[in-house]
Amino acid sequence: MTAADSSPGLDRYLPAETIANLRRADRYWDDLRHGRLTIPQVIATTDQTLADLKGDQGSKSARKAKKAKNATDRSQPGRYDVTVCGGTLGILLAAALAQRGLKVLVLERGNLRGRDQEWNISRQELRELVDLELLTEKQLETAIVSEYNPARVGFHGSPDRWVRDVLNVGVDPVYLLDTLKKRFLKAGGELCENVAFSGAIVHPDGVSVKLSADGDEATIETRLLIDAMGHGSPIAAQARQGATPDSICMVVGSCATGFTPEQNQTGDLMLSNQPIVNHCQYFWEAFPARDGRTTYLFTYLDPRPDRFSLEFFAAEYFRLLPDYQNINLDDLDVKRFLFGVFPAYRDSPLRLPWNRILAIGDSSGGQSPLSFGGFGAMVRHLSRLDRAVSEALRGDTLDRASLQLIQPYQPNIAVTWLFQQTMTVPLDRPVTDSDAVNRLLGSVFGAMAAGGDRVMQPFLQDMVQFGGLLEAMARATLAAPLTVMRVVPQVGVAPLLDWTRHFLSLAAYGVLSAWDDRAGVAQRLDGMTGLPPDRAFALRRWLDALRYGSGRDGIG
Ligand SMILES: Cc1cc2nc3c(=O)[nH]c(=O)nc-3n(C[C@H](O)[C@H](O)[C@H](O)COP(=O)(O)OP(=O)(O)OC[C@H]3O[C@@H](n4cnc5c(N)ncnc54)[C@H](O)[C@@H]3O)c2cc1C
Repeated sequence: MTAADSSPGLDRYLPAETIANLRRADRYWDDLRHGRLTIPQVIATTDQTLADLKGDQGSKSARKAKKAKNATDRSQPGRYDVTVCGGTLGILLAAALAQRGLKVLVLERGNLRGRDQEWNISRQELRELVDLELLTEKQLETAIVSEYNPARVGFHGSPDRWVRDVLNVGVDPVYLLDTLKKRFLKAGGELCENVAFSGAIVHPDGVSVKLSADGDEATIETRLLIDAMGHGSPIAAQARQGATPDSICMVVGSCATGFTPEQNQTGDLMLSNQPIVNHCQYFWEAFPARDGRTTYLFTYLDPRPDRFSLEFFAAEYFRLLPDYQNINLDDLDVKRFLFGVFPAYRDSPLRLPWNRILAIGDSSGGQSPLSFGGFGAMVRHLSRLDRAVSEALRGDTLDRASLQLIQPYQPNIAVTWLFQQTMTVPLDRPVTDSDAVNRLLGSVFGAMAAGGDRVMQPFLQDMVQFGGLLEAMARATLAAPLTVMRVVPQVGVAPLLDWTRHFLSLAAYGVLSAWDDRAGVAQRLDGMTGLPPDRAFALRRWLDALRYGSGRDGIG
């Protein structure tokens, strides 16, 4: 049985504009699960070089580029090393590359401004921005607007577990993006706001990118095009060719005042307080925030036509919130309401099929299917991306195969699909045990907690490692063998065999990455002068893939 989409009476809690935005997102979700999304055709390829096209046509394009709004003032017609389309997470990499002296252009179809709602991350992860000299220590402290400890992980019927220093820091995206924007411009970067990417042609010697603003169109040239246009990216959609996502993480939530100070001392990373309903296991997440308390309701879904709407889920949030937080809705003042439908594809991160184009951020699907924390994933991978992209530009290794090495297979992400599957209740199967998900998660997290922070923390931070995972599984199997064995019929034999392959890869990646640390292969590579640039580039990407793919990126 699926939930009928009822009229949920959201207007009691939300302004008309928010409901209209929710319904707009619902139309996308409706088209997605009914297979009605059209495949954009924004990328074309040609064998003709840009050099051949030069002359009259080049100067016409340059004049037209001057007409495009904003581009009029900022963009100098000419060739960019990198053009980043989409400024939200794109500005992080753009600023790092501009600091290296590369000629970088950012195209943002709106104003480059962070959202009002904080991004939650850990302090240790955030330090990456200081290490890359994108923020000073003082700016880092200003960007952090809330911090709390500890956070709870709990499942209906099992004892709560408490962890420290995971997603416990709230970053102000407005300040962060504004600071990075200034850093980017100071380093010589060029920013075109209210200018949209509308298409590109990949030539053997560069990419010509079409921009549009207020009905004006223009073209610029770049050596490398970076797609940072998020889940709605037309480039990613063209590359995926209408493939249905393997899973959806649906999230709704708010930041509100009206909680008592005691209620707002701690957070929840993952909490379920009821059995399966509407063919879903609901989870809660909560954070003390600068101006209130953030609470999210989320669930994992298979994208089938009969699944409920985002609007229905928003109504579920308001229905269940009083019980979850022990509050009266009338006492709350909702400052902001947020929502998202995050598609996840097993075939991730997305390796684009074209030369000279690379996807980053949400459009690349690089984060774990369990997480909707794309900012955190981007920050964790920023130094890797910065090194890899600048090296690709230096060595002119911008062909498809080389760029695909920058978004490699990561076994530590691939293994999380099994967990995602155990938390999803397939719509085409009857629910025979409405507490199955809670019981399994209770056992697994209980086993992880017994292993200590060393086992639990990497899992909660998308840095799953072989040793910790093996230990948690062994402990969970010993403590509750029947509960764990039930995963086999629930998930199926073929997916389990596939998972075993990723699990063994995780082991191999871990061993090889530890060996690299001891043998100092990366440092030796720096000293090798005779190695052709493409070989050196590929070797370094393999070393990166081993480290990040084994969840060892937080080590050392
Ligand atoms: C409710 C909710 C809570 C979240 N909480 C967290 C959290 O606590 N921690 C965390 O790490 N993450 C969190 N996230 C996820 C995080 O917000 C996203 O991962 C992040 O915003 C992704 O950034 P992006 O730049 O890849 O994509 P987007 O945010 O989608 O940004 C894409 C950018 O590209 C621009 N763009 C689009 N099309 C074009 C075009 N044609 N031309 C030019 N520009 C274009 C857009 O204007 C936009 O600026 C949350 C998300 C939601 C919905």
